[in-house]
Amino acid sequence: MNNWIKELEELDKKHFIHPTSPIKQQQQAGPSFIFTKGEGVYLEDLKGNRVIDGMSSLWNVNIGHGREEMGEVAKEQMSKLAYSSCFATFSNEPAIRLAAKLAEVAPGNLSATFFTSGGSEANDTAYKLARHYWILKGKPNKQKIITRTKSYHGVALGGTSATGLQPFREFTNSIAPDFDYVDHFSSEALRRKIEEEGPEKIAAFVAEPVQGAGGVHIAPEEYFKEVRVICDQYDILFITDEVITGFGRTGTYFGIEHYGVVPDMMCFAKGVTSGYAQLGGVMMSDQMYEEFKELSTGTLLHGYTYSGHAMACSVALKNLEIIEKEQLITRAKEMGGEMLAGFKELQRKHSIIGEVRALGLMGAIEIVKDQNSKERYQTALAPIIVTEAAKRGLVVRSVVFDSQDTLVIAPPLIINKKEIEEMMTILSNTFAEVELKMIG
Ligand code: PMP
Repeated sequence: MNNWIKELEELDKKHFIHPTSPIKQQQQAGPSFIFTKGEGVYLEDLKGNRVIDGMSSLWNVNIGHGREEMGEVAKEQMSKLAYSSCFATFSNEPAIRLAAKLAEVAPGNLSATFFTSGGSEANDTAYKLARHYWILKGKPNKQKIITRTKSYHGVALGGTSATGLQPFREFTNSIAPDFDYVDHFSSEALRRKIEEEGPEKIAAFVAEPVQGAGGVHIAPEEYFKEVRVICDQYDILFITDEVITGFGRTGTYFGIEHYGVVPDMMCFAKGVTSGYAQLGGVMMSDQMYEEFKELSTGTLLHGYTYSGHAMACSVALKNLEIIEKEQLITRAKEMGGEMLAGFKELQRKHSIIGEVRALGLMGAIEIVKDQNSKERYQTALAPIIVTEAAKRGLVVRSVVFDSQDTLVIAPPLIINKKEIEEMMTILSNTFAEVELKMIG
């Protein structure tokens, strides 16, 4: 191996603390891929390995890799004005135009945006704004945030507390107070929780339209309609976390559109720039924004240095232009159909595949020991499948939280039929290999 590759691997192990990583294993094995290049749905590393990015990296590279026009727009904005403060009365054109554009494409009357650098900040912002809203409304005890099992809302303190996946909360022994959890698919559980706690103590309910990191769980058809009714009935804000589901991923602009309801606030990040810059935010309804304007007396004491970052906002505008021009939302729907059909075919061929599901290009394959009883293997197979698939040229991800044994797959929205077939071939070969090992 080239010396400089070895050197990079050693430097990585010595100096680079990897996010969300099995630290011992990472130290032993070193970096599996040091990516140097991306093109469409493909990533290439410095050893020349080419893999399909079956996860759009972290569910975010919606328009695919290596788009020169994104580099051009970033360069142009950076050369003019990369960044300036948006605190108080300062502003910049890309931030203004992006906020206006988001108002145009967001569901219903969501019309005002608070910008952040990513999804975790967006979630913490939403919770703080929701709590502050009730203080302004003269109901200061409405502070609790209800969230769901199997949910993921980021790793800042608020997002960690809101995350239903327990290992994230148990990472430390002290998290943010005033969060509570209900079953992810039961609107009745939400109603019961509200009754139990008292609606006068509850600020908001937060939910991902389709749960991502928790294993791609798609809510029953009526679920969010019922949630909307319950939140209205008890005067509780309904917040959707569209960090993954926003900007076309599920075949609609935003995931909640599948359910025909409009939240009071909406978190977004990832697909807003397709990963070409770091950006997220929270939108609120015009009605809520009007109330903020009317009832606020002091300063809105919440703001990040990079709230409204000019370069990031101009990159987002270009990204949305591409999504619309290339009709990537319709494409996500169509290719999502192809992907799900591919999953079903794999399921017929491989006995270790249990339930398969997808909404747009957000899909999951469950691994089981027995297709009928749904019994799973004592040691989860999904992580092995992930490693084996990567060797064959496909990056996917495993979810083993809450006794799951699931593969999640979410390729860029630009994926074509041939590339979907390539993904399925690699998956099929991988399943065959793992089946041979497990069943003989
Ligand atoms: N919410 C959801 C639904 C997410 O999927 C994520 C990231 N996977 C986050 C919040 C956190 O976003 P970030 O990693 O940009 O802070």
